[in-house]
Amino acid sequence: MDAADRRADVVVVGAGPAGSAAAWHLARAGRDVVLLEKARLPREKVCGDGLTPRGVKALVDLGVDTTGWVRHRGLRVTGGGRVVTVDWPALERWPGHSLVRRRAELDAQLAAHAVAAGARLHEEVTVTGPLLDEAGRVAGVEATEGPDRTPVRWRAALVVSAEGLSGRLGKALGLVRREDRPLGVAVRRYVRSPRTDDEYLDISFDLSATGPSADSMPGYGWAFGMGDGTSNVGFGLLDRRRGTGVEPRAVLQGWLATLPPEWQFGEEHAVSPLRGAGLPMALHRQPAYTRGLLLAGDAAGVVNPFNGEGISYALETGRMAAEAAVAGLAAAEGPAREAALRAYPARLREEYGRHHRLGTAFLALLERPGLVRFATAHGLKRPRMVAAALRLMGNLSDGRDGDGFDRAVAVLTRLAPAV
Ligand SMILES: Cc1cc2nc3c(=O)[nH]c(=O)nc-3n(C[C@H](O)[C@H](O)[C@H](O)COP(=O)(O)OP(=O)(O)OC[C@H]3O[C@@H](n4cnc5c(N)ncnc54)[C@H](O)[C@@H]3O)c2cc1C
Repeated sequence: MDAADRRADVVVVGAGPAGSAAAWHLARAGRDVVLLEKARLPREKVCGDGLTPRGVKALVDLGVDTTGWVRHRGLRVTGGGRVVTVDWPALERWPGHSLVRRRAELDAQLAAHAVAAGARLHEEVTVTGPLLDEAGRVAGVEATEGPDRTPVRWRAALVVSAEGLSGRLGKALGLVRREDRPLGVAVRRYVRSPRTDDEYLDISFDLSATGPSADSMPGYGWAFGMGDGTSNVGFGLLDRRRGTGVEPRAVLQGWLATLPPEWQFGEEHAVSPLRGAGLPMALHRQPAYTRGLLLAGDAAGVVNPFNGEGISYALETGRMAAEAAVAGLAAAEGPAREAALRAYPARLREEYGRHHRLGTAFLALLERPGLVRFATAHGLKRPRMVAAALRLMGNLSDGRDGDGFDRAVAVLTRLAPAV
């Protein structure tokens, strides 16, 4: 059967936060954009559902109405038996609160937002590979549509790959995941818990494979109150344990055993199965533009190595990819267009490269349990130090216009080479 041919200025693959943000910006810029999504929305996405102040800002920039969403004031951090509670910082550039939103709802809302701006959403369309022209440049995508997997072909001047960790389109063009970049793995489940309305997000560095007294593992656990009777409980770890026999359920149980049972975070209170996925960090697939294909979100590996946050970066890179596409399409086909598009990977490195370098170094430190023990035992006695560390980790600063801490971070970040 011949594949049906369809056309758009830009094809965006994947209606997660990166894809919907890209589609929204492209539609607002007057481009004919089609958003292809393999699932039917709303669909589940394994996630902690947490939007830090950085994520909140990205939503505001996108014009999303967050009225009525569940807000949090800050973080309660546990480590080595110590607990400290810190509010989100009061900064010029960033809101002073975080939000939680189930991904099924968030992603459906973002896709609807892109459609309201003029994007054409096609669900149950699985992109199977890039469509290449004679010069080897991406000229669209091959896909299958609907339950009977009818082949379709979408032609476009540019394609944005926002299909998440798999990065199928990038891979097809030889952009394989760099093995020297950290990869996290995270699992979560929902539990019915009296902590559902907690004003603070819980994070804990007391993860261990064998119980409370054992060495901590490189990662952290979280419990986020969803405000609907449930909490999202999970943990993320640096993925160095493949094949070493450590079982996620055991790590989760070991950590939850350190928490008061009346919080009801244990498996007996679960209302969903334990599910996991990878966290691609430190710009693991580069360059983020090649031959007509732009990568955004997890496909580009922009999860923050310090804290595993990926939604805000997906929204931001969706926007930046769209801006590059708009500039590229406005330029004459040929070298001028390529120059505009090649500015995108350079911009990603400029915006994130140094912070990701520091985050990668932080992950290396987390792999030294003695150091983690020392840092949590001493650091958590000093709430101001914890607040400062969380600002660095969360990439929340007013830059050179900010306070002394912001200026120190700006210097530190400038000194770090980009990943
Ligand atoms: C357990 C866990 C907890 C996490 N917690 C948080 C958190 O609390 N806060 C935070 O900020 N980040 C968190 N993250 C990271 C965050 O989930 C991701 O970084 C984020 O979802 C990336 O968005 P994206 O749009 O790039 O990709 P995705 O959200 O993965 O969206 C990709 C979309 O593409 C579609 N798709 C895939 N392949 C195809 C195809 N071939 N054709 C068509 N469509 C396709 C998928 O169905 C999906 O809708 C967590 C991750 C995990 C695993």
